[in-house]
Amino acid sequence: MKGSCLCGAIEVVAGEHSEIGLCHCSMCRRWSGGPLFAVHCDDKVQFNGGTPKTYRSSEWAERGFCGECGTHLYYRLMPDGEYFVPAGLFQDHAFELASQIFIDEKPPFYTLANDTPTMTGKQVFEQFAAGDN
Ligand SMILES: [Zn+2]
Ligand SMILES: [Zn+2]
Repeated sequence: MKGSCLCGAIEVVAGEHSEIGLCHCSMCRRWSGGPLFAVHCDDKVQFNGGTPKTYRSSEWAERGFCGECGTHLYYRLMPDGEYFVPAGLFQDHAFELASQIFIDEKPPFYTLANDTPTMTGKQVFEQFAAGDN
């Protein structure tokens, strides 16, 4: 599937996916301005037309964005390199919301009506530590 940033300088090419996950964590909300809807891709995501700028947001992850328009292009787990690409880049795709994580960091001013499984930050880290992310 293909998508692009707001200014069109960077095209994103990833494998086909139909499910997206939502992260309510304080870092994603600061980065995005709201909760982050993202597609969990493998490590083979390609960026054409330009090289994303990166910000190392934690010991285990970096975040990429377009240096021209600032569009968020990915959250990437290190060192295995799996990409989580914002669903908003792929405007022509019909996605289904499959999960919500860091539900314990969700602020009280919104609640989604979607009935999905949820995980707390602690549960996410436990799964991550088990190597089953
Ligand atoms: Zn751009
Ligand atoms: Zn997050």
